[in-house]
Amino acid sequence: MESYQDEIIILQIKNWQTADKQVICFSREHGKIVFIAYGARYPRSTAGRLLQPFACLQAELYPGSRVDKLKSCELAAPAPQLNLNQLAYGFLMAEATERLTEQGEPSEGIYTLLQAALALLMKRTPRLAALAYLIRLLDYCGIGPVYEVCVSCSKPAEGDGWFSEDQGGFICGDCRHGHTTEPLAAFGEEARNLWQQLRMLDFEAPGHFTVKGGALMEAEQILHRYLVYQTEQPLKSLDFIRQIS
Ligand SMILES: [Zn+2]
Repeated sequence: MESYQDEIIILQIKNWQTADKQVICFSREHGKIVFIAYGARYPRSTAGRLLQPFACLQAELYPGSRVDKLKSCELAAPAPQLNLNQLAYGFLMAEATERLTEQGEPSEGIYTLLQAALALLMKRTPRLAALAYLIRLLDYCGIGPVYEVCVSCSKPAEGDGWFSEDQGGFICGDCRHGHTTEPLAAFGEEARNLWQQLRMLDFEAPGHFTVKGGALMEAEQILHRYLVYQTEQPLKSLDFIRQIS
């Protein structure tokens, strides 16, 4: 069987059978890949040592029908040293990427964004870095919510407003009353401005801007609710973030 090479970022690692690891990663050229690293739990396994969350590796793999097999790997970049808070938000980025992407759908854009966002996670407030990444990831996945106009009546968004997960965006005060099926989250002007600012953020040169706590909490709450709605199940990393904060 012909092997292939790719640069990968590790998203998730699980133990598999007695001595192996099952790994989910996002690659530069092949998108999301699930593979088994046989023998990776043996103490002297090089792959076992290198397969760590968020590691960037040059990997050689054998293709399988659903799950590939690791032949070998080496470090492509120094392994990131993350503190607990950075890890928590890193896990959120990894979990959302894993849930929102499909195998066999390559996206170099997502790969480059993930790489830049992990670097930003170590330099800036992890909460903001994760929020900026997730907002952009939704765009790449084609499900970025509408926040410039009301999704119900198309009027430009002004002042106070709300957010509807199932309609995928901003709901104005007039249209809010037609909504009886779900309690809507607030999506005010400051939160929408922050959303816009983070969506346009240059990850290489993020600059300095001030963020109001209320707007950050509102944008974050909307994003988390929307992620859960889109992936149709709770995100484990959000529980972890709640536990440590
Ligand atoms: Zn409206």
